[in-house]
Amino acid sequence: MQFKDIVGQRDVINRLTEIIDSGRVSHAQMVLGDERDGSLALALAYLQYLCCEHRVHHAEGDLRADSCGECPSCKKVSQLMHPDLHLVFPNATTERVKSNPSCADFEGEFREFILAHKGLGTLEQWYDHLGVDNKQGMIRESDAAQIVRTLGMKAYEGGWRMLVIWRPSRMNASAANELLKTLEEPMPQTLILLVDDSLEELLPTIRSRVQVVRMKTGNGNRKTEGSEEFAPMLVGWLRMLFKLKMKELSAQVDKMAAMGREQQKQFLSYTLDVMRDCFLQTTAGLPCRIESGDEKFDAMFPNMVTVNNIDLINDALNDALFAIGRNAYGKIAFMELSFRISKALKKR
Ligand SMILES: [Zn+2]
Repeated sequence: MQFKDIVGQRDVINRLTEIIDSGRVSHAQMVLGDERDGSLALALAYLQYLCCEHRVHHAEGDLRADSCGECPSCKKVSQLMHPDLHLVFPNATTERVKSNPSCADFEGEFREFILAHKGLGTLEQWYDHLGVDNKQGMIRESDAAQIVRTLGMKAYEGGWRMLVIWRPSRMNASAANELLKTLEEPMPQTLILLVDDSLEELLPTIRSRVQVVRMKTGNGNRKTEGSEEFAPMLVGWLRMLFKLKMKELSAQVDKMAAMGREQQKQFLSYTLDVMRDCFLQTTAGLPCRIESGDEKFDAMFPNMVTVNNIDLINDALNDALFAIGRNAYGKIAFMELSFRISKALKKR
């Protein structure tokens, strides 16, 4: 992965290469951003630059420097085959690995997944790739213990020891505890890069130990992705919440409950975004991104979200997100959410 392949993050990248060139690399950093904006790709390009034997500095253009892409180190990192590059990621039991799953069981699959999506694959796509749609992937204590052992050993190639922890928010508390000391005082020439899209779900003990590299969000393709996928379902559901015909609503809720958990969470996050947009349209006249294909609905619905019900709607959606994240039964969570939103819409 090279910096030139990452869209819309030139400022962030230029700051990073400057720091690397100056030799002041801090040993634990967190790349904060969505995968679709290139957060994982950025972390990998960062490591490739760090190891590159012939860094290229551009006199012209908006990218100040990049890895050469040709030297043996670049080739090894870009193929994810560098012996001192270690990857940690959420995993779960599968058809093949029926108990005690760990990163070591899925290294090959994870490499394949990253290369196939050029580093832009999402957590949901990773779970699809593994075939664990309805399960929550995790980073376990055994994975953390393996990291500690690996980073305690000498580097094979005598250079940097590199570790990428993708989605550290999926680490449970015991895994995080296991890692604290390594994050705080790793061996010299060690770089630990955490990659996640939010700081909120990260355990505070971890958060306080990493330097955050914040990416620019939304380079244009994220909103449309979500709306294409979820808009029809959201609009169909909202219509039912006005009429509240139980039989239809029940069928709709069944459809929502049949999605994988990650998809359910994405749908709820998308709905939160849309509701906030509707509210901003009614209060501040900003454009709303609801696109049902039905002009009458698009013109009417945003007016339903007002200062009188936005908090109720937000609370209901956040409670549902929390419940789904804690493995609540989807059908009950979505039914309760339906009643709460229906009631809130009447309070406008
Ligand atoms: Zn190189």
